Amino acid sequence: MPLLLLSLFLTIATAAGIALSLRQCRHVRAHRATVPAGFAGRISAGEHAKAADYTCARQSLEIVSQVWGLLVTLGWLFAGISLLAGLVARPGLGPILSGALLIAVLSLCSALLDLPMAVLRTFRVEARFGFNRMTAGLFLRDQAKGIALNLILTFPLMLGLLWLTGTMSGLWWLWAWAGFLVVGAAMMAVYPVWIAPLFNKFEPLGEGAVSARVTALLGKAGYRANGLFVMDGSRRSSHANAYFTGFGRSKRIVFFDTLLEKLSVDEVEAVLAHELGHFHHRDILRAMARLALVSLAVFFWLGVAIKEPWFTVWLGLPQQDAVAVVVAMICMEPLGLVAAPLMNALSWRAEWRADAYAVTLTGGGVHLASALVKLSRDSASTLTPDPLYARFHYSHPPLPLRLARLPGADGRAAH
Ligand SMILES: [Zn+2]
Repeated sequence: MPLLLLSLFLTIATAAGIALSLRQCRHVRAHRATVPAGFAGRISAGEHAKAADYTCARQSLEIVSQVWGLLVTLGWLFAGISLLAGLVARPGLGPILSGALLIAVLSLCSALLDLPMAVLRTFRVEARFGFNRMTAGLFLRDQAKGIALNLILTFPLMLGLLWLTGTMSGLWWLWAWAGFLVVGAAMMAVYPVWIAPLFNKFEPLGEGAVSARVTALLGKAGYRANGLFVMDGSRRSSHANAYFTGFGRSKRIVFFDTLLEKLSVDEVEAVLAHELGHFHHRDILRAMARLALVSLAVFFWLGVAIKEPWFTVWLGLPQQDAVAVVVAMICMEPLGLVAAPLMNALSWRAEWRADAYAVTLTGGGVHLASALVKLSRDSASTLTPDPLYARFHYSHPPLPLRLARLPGADGRAAH
């Protein structure tokens, strides 16, 4: 009975996610025929319609993968976890090692079960709209590297976690949280230097018109120009982007090569000014502080779930700390959807703030606006998302809301 209740809870959460996807597609379709006011002349009717079709194609796949994800989770709960726990349990192993092994095998199986969805996304949806540049070989190498990295990183962490649950008193979760913060901060510091290069090539931004302007802008903003890199994003997709990453000495701004191809020097400068706005407002630190709070809640919940014998027994599952960790995480998943609007609201605010900083730094919003319009057009992002869907799923404000706050966004310089 409790297992049925948990299944019902997970099913309702999935249904809510699917309802959001359906809303998004319906809203985008209803606005497919008309380019929104303010974008006429910058986005053609054909481009606007393509964005609508691309959005709906992605939502259809999203619905399939949500249903698939639910089926996989129910499979784990009703049979998979008990089966695996029996398979990895060996007399000599002890609860910590066999527990970590159980979680490792489980996450490996989950990653393999997710693979079909990734194949459909890359080779059907992305390819159909002309965005995919990935070969089957590169795709497989990426997946293998991702899975291996995940196992290498999580196995020792799980050993540590299960050691804590086995040896510490009721407050083990506080120690686990402290450990998580230390490991998380270390990961963020080494990610740009050690992990990202496993997947992409990064080269310092070379000399040239862009470099001269960029160096001047960095000087104006008071930053040293040693953290600017170009990434070979074109190996995988034609989507363009720029982002900032790392902190301390590993702090850097990364431009996709596809971004530099598509934008003028003025526009690249405006995008960089936006990224500098994130540095200026310490958005990485803010995001880390937020993550620390959220993870405190997660570890508190793990603390409750793991030390209560009824938790797994009640669900008819083996009474092991590792099993309790897995099930507690499964229960948490729907809460991510509940928290999303708040997280996104904070993120939208940071984006608007960085835009405002860029306007001040470069003396206007004309080039930032034209860069954003170009990027949106080239990645076929819809200009008319469902407002509710956007609150749940958009980390950046939809383009019309962003342009509304940019002076000169209509292409004319502000006076
Ligand atoms: Zn941003």
